[in-house]
Amino acid sequence: MTYPLHLELAGKRVLVVGAGTVAERRIRGLLTADADIVVVAPSATEAIRTWSEAGLIVWRQRDFDYSDVIGAWLVHAATDCSEVNNAAADEATRRRVWAVRADRLGDARTPAVASIDGVTVSVTTGDPRRTQVVRDSVALGIQDGSLTSRPHRRRQRGSVVLIGGGPGEADLITVRGRRELLSADVIVYDRLAPTALLELADPDVELIDAAKSPGLHTLSQDEINDVIVDRALNGLRVARLKGGDPFVLGRGSEEVLACSEAGIPVEVIPGVTSAVSGPAAAGIPVTHRGVTAGFVVISGHALGDVAPLAATDLTLVVLMGVGRLAALSAALIEAGKDASTPVALIERAYCPDQRVTIGTLASITSAAERAGVVNPAIIVVGEVVNVPALAADAQFASQQAGDSRVTVDA
Ligand code: SAH
Repeated sequence: MTYPLHLELAGKRVLVVGAGTVAERRIRGLLTADADIVVVAPSATEAIRTWSEAGLIVWRQRDFDYSDVIGAWLVHAATDCSEVNNAAADEATRRRVWAVRADRLGDARTPAVASIDGVTVSVTTGDPRRTQVVRDSVALGIQDGSLTSRPHRRRQRGSVVLIGGGPGEADLITVRGRRELLSADVIVYDRLAPTALLELADPDVELIDAAKSPGLHTLSQDEINDVIVDRALNGLRVARLKGGDPFVLGRGSEEVLACSEAGIPVEVIPGVTSAVSGPAAAGIPVTHRGVTAGFVVISGHALGDVAPLAATDLTLVVLMGVGRLAALSAALIEAGKDASTPVALIERAYCPDQRVTIGTLASITSAAERAGVVNPAIIVVGEVVNVPALAADAQFASQQAGDSRVTVDA
């Protein structure tokens, strides 16, 4: 049984014998540890030569000499010649200096390491392949939050992280978003966020449904701001989990301002917005070469002047627009947009009951009424709606849409 140990090497002499690819890997780690690195070898890899020229390491360009060990705290015998490694390791042992060998197990052994979000993972198993596999799976688990690395609660300073949860499916959040979510003390979540992830939170994490207060009313934006600021001021790490991207019609910026005003550190983790991924769930690209080179995202609650929207060939993506569908399509036609412009409605994108209704500006209102289209849904107006149908591989559209029912009313 070996004895695990981490060394503070800053400013301490480490001798590396050899300057090939193995030595290069060792040196990379030693540079991170700020060690005083001396390399002995007649020739070196390009990276080692560059480090030497930059003064980051000292390269003695010659064969190993016993005297090289003098003054070192640690020796890496990393040549591809076992006699040289023997000489270096034996001399180190004679001088009571630990030596790591590249060719076989020496008295000192370096583990496989990974650093993720303030956590250093170091693994040894005796089997190099297995060591790497274990290191990689532990590192990945910490990275995506499936292995909890929640910091032990320290009552120092609270903070807030706004997390874009993506369009709703649990695995469409970013890796960083998932990790931050699962390391929070408090989670304040929206209805359109990937709420399935909440089941993974530790039992002592406070979960606050922003759509429902204890008195069962929807929290106002001010109440949401107050609750996240309050928890953070109490020294807690608050995750504010939102649907899509926090800065796309999500009022995330207001929450950032509220935190800044209260002097609370706040971070924003972007998410996959439903404005782009919602259409994609139905196989509709928001841009397509030769059809349109851009798109406009608007809120159905604040349509304003539709004339510029009617005049453009850009794809129009409307969020929160189901209630205004009739008014929107009528206004666009009135402002000069072709009544035969294709329109798609994507309800509950990425949910098991996703549904797509397709029509034109002229027909979509009655089609939506007949189908009983409800929020949450995305409205897409523009020729891109026809792209999935145009695609040579029509399979693509149906695969993307999953099991969703498609009502075509053109
Ligand atoms: N910040 C979010 C948008 C919030 S506004 C984002 O970037 O996606 C809420 C609106 O988003 C809903 O009314 C609906 O129009 C749309 N939406 C969000 N998720 C959706 C989903 N899974 N399916 C359909 N529409 C969705």
